[in-house]
Amino acid sequence: MFKTDRISRIRPELEAIVGGDAVRTDEAEILMYSYDAGMARARPEAVITFSAAEQVAPVVKVLYRAGIPFLPRLAGTNLSGGTIPLKGGVILNLARLKKIRRIDTGARLALVEPGVVNLELQRALEPFGYFYAPDPASQKVSTIGGNIGENAGGPLCLKYGVTSDNVEKLEVVTPEGDVRTWSYRDPGPDLMSLMIGSEGTLGVVTHAWLKILPVPRHIRTVSAAFRSLDQAMKAVTRIISEGIVPRALEAMDSVSLEAALNGKASPFPEGTEAALIIELDGPDAVKVKREQENVESICAGAACTAFRLAADESERELLWQARKGAYPALARLAPDVLVEDGVVPRPRLPEALRQTREILAKYKLTAGLLFHAGDGNLHPNIVFDRRDIQEVKRVKKAGYEILKSCIALGGTVSGEHGIGVEKRVAMNWLYGRAELDFFRKIKDAFDPAGLANPDKILPVASDARAEAPPEGLAERASLSPEARAVVDELRLRARSGVPTAVTGLGTRLKPSGNDGAKPLDLSQLAGAAVIDRENLTARVEAGLPLERFRAQLKEAGLNLDLPDLKGSVGGLIASKAFPGVKDLLLGLEVVTAEGELLELGGRTVKNVAGYDAVRLLCGSMGAYAVILAATFALSAGSRRAQAAFEEGPGAPAFAPDPYQVRLKRALDPRNLLNPWIYGAAAAAEELP
Ligand SMILES: Cc1cc2nc3c(=O)[nH]c(=O)nc-3n(C[C@H](O)[C@H](O)[C@H](O)COP(=O)(O)OP(=O)(O)OC[C@H]3O[C@@H](n4cnc5c(N)ncnc54)[C@H](O)[C@@H]3O)c2cc1C
Repeated sequence: MFKTDRISRIRPELEAIVGGDAVRTDEAEILMYSYDAGMARARPEAVITFSAAEQVAPVVKVLYRAGIPFLPRLAGTNLSGGTIPLKGGVILNLARLKKIRRIDTGARLALVEPGVVNLELQRALEPFGYFYAPDPASQKVSTIGGNIGENAGGPLCLKYGVTSDNVEKLEVVTPEGDVRTWSYRDPGPDLMSLMIGSEGTLGVVTHAWLKILPVPRHIRTVSAAFRSLDQAMKAVTRIISEGIVPRALEAMDSVSLEAALNGKASPFPEGTEAALIIELDGPDAVKVKREQENVESICAGAACTAFRLAADESERELLWQARKGAYPALARLAPDVLVEDGVVPRPRLPEALRQTREILAKYKLTAGLLFHAGDGNLHPNIVFDRRDIQEVKRVKKAGYEILKSCIALGGTVSGEHGIGVEKRVAMNWLYGRAELDFFRKIKDAFDPAGLANPDKILPVASDARAEAPPEGLAERASLSPEARAVVDELRLRARSGVPTAVTGLGTRLKPSGNDGAKPLDLSQLAGAAVIDRENLTARVEAGLPLERFRAQLKEAGLNLDLPDLKGSVGGLIASKAFPGVKDLLLGLEVVTAEGELLELGGRTVKNVAGYDAVRLLCGSMGAYAVILAATFALSAGSRRAQAAFEEGPGAPAFAPDPYQVRLKRALDPRNLLNPWIYGAAAAAEELP
């Protein structure tokens, strides 16, 4: 019980907004919302159930004024304790906000409320011949709001992207109760993308405009069996590096297969240790068939023991039921399951799996290995009994060691399940102090009172710090001498408070009466791109002209799905001349106004550890940080049709959103970087 009753005094105000029955403080309700699908537990003080999206902002305003913490909750299937009210307060139950308000096939958009269950949206789209790409295995119950809160992925995300690639626009209630609508196409830093994966710590999504796609005319689903995980992974690496992009490329080990079959006869030969489910799609039947044949010969080359095309829809359904039903099936083996969610660069997956198995053996634990193999995202499902304290300790240790091994392999600690409370400590192993400070400033800019889902994502004082500097940041040592010189110069200027005008090739961002800022020319940062052929990524310095980058990729038989724009790589990102650039970016290396060097994102194709600062910096126009280098996701093979895009006459005059201004003040409080962009707004006394 909480020592003081904080709810009674605001209850009449709350009830006036949502109705008397909608504010609950009875024991049954409190208990029900004290847990979610993760391991943490804590009691809220009240649960408010909304019947209209318009009720959310006024309720948040009341709670903010009263200084009471709150968090949005939907199906509670997140696996990181994201909906556990660590500081008590109020659960905002949005589950009844489940209207699909519009399906517009012309604009390829669906407008939905946050409580819409993912699978119900898919069913509503079916008669129109459309689908929404993110398809988490939990889609029967998990909701669009929760998917946005965690930046959920699923099998189809290999080809069609995760949640943040499939959202057009969001309506958000900020922690102070303001209603804002943000699209990634808005001028300036990308606030919409920042909201995605922010786990209710920066605001509450009340409406979402989602991108929908026509169902491909031809889909072929195959399964492939192998005698070892290593052989299966060999096939996966070849498929990706050959430039085949299946719509799904999922893997299961023998423990998961056995659990999923639940006593039924196995469709795979005896001795099968791993199986792949591979799905190919496209508008051209001949091409899809050819891709299937290529996949078959790759699998044969990796000693596949059985390769089978699903003959009809019911066989296809069976395969997907096995994959999506594996978690519940494993959950039947023991009272509890811990699902880890590490990600590694794709070529490192075999090593990551080997190490994972060694760790599980060391701690004498049973786990089914399920993974989005095409994304390098592995989910060991460790079964255990929480009543056995010794076993729980072993499970926690093993989970942490698995995450540390992913970091050491150049990966990250969460691909799609989020950080919540359960992986907060792992943020200390992944990031250095500077990156965590950067995230903290983002949080404080949105939520100065710290009331929105407090103590989630960012480590708190009691979370053990890493003993040694995180290994994942070793890349920094590879900064070129030119980049080092830029960092040194910015540090000098920061020390003496000299403002900087950041310029690339000057194609788009031109200082306008630059307030006496001293120019910093980044065109010298133009070393050749470092291409990782197997991972399909390239690290490029910010000053490299796009034409030269494209030429280098062409020579390597690779491609970046960008329109033919001019200018530098850094200029393209900072100006957001092509808003879709966000979907190609995996990581950024930047220097802050105070000369701190940050590595944001990385070389994995999925990463939800911390706020999406990479996308936030798209369109930041050099005013939040200076971009030194970027890592892009590539595609193999010849150039696809150029993305339909016409560069306009130039960005409209930038009238910053109040939250872009807040971020400017948090990230560059002395207005040292491109000071004319925010001008007087950056210095005003009152927070907007
Ligand atoms: C069996 C099983 C399989 C799973 N498979 C997958 C998978 O394949 N891929 C995957 O990505 N995940 C998977 N998950 C994890 C989970 O289903 C996802 O994280 C899902 O997106 C959570 O949705 P939810 O509706 O349950 O949200 P909740 O758990 O209720 O909330 C998730 C987070 O979002 C925040 N939030 C909720 N609503 C809003 C809102 N309106 N605005 C802002 N923030 C909000 C919450 O505060 C919380 O931090 C799986 C989980 C289980 C149990």
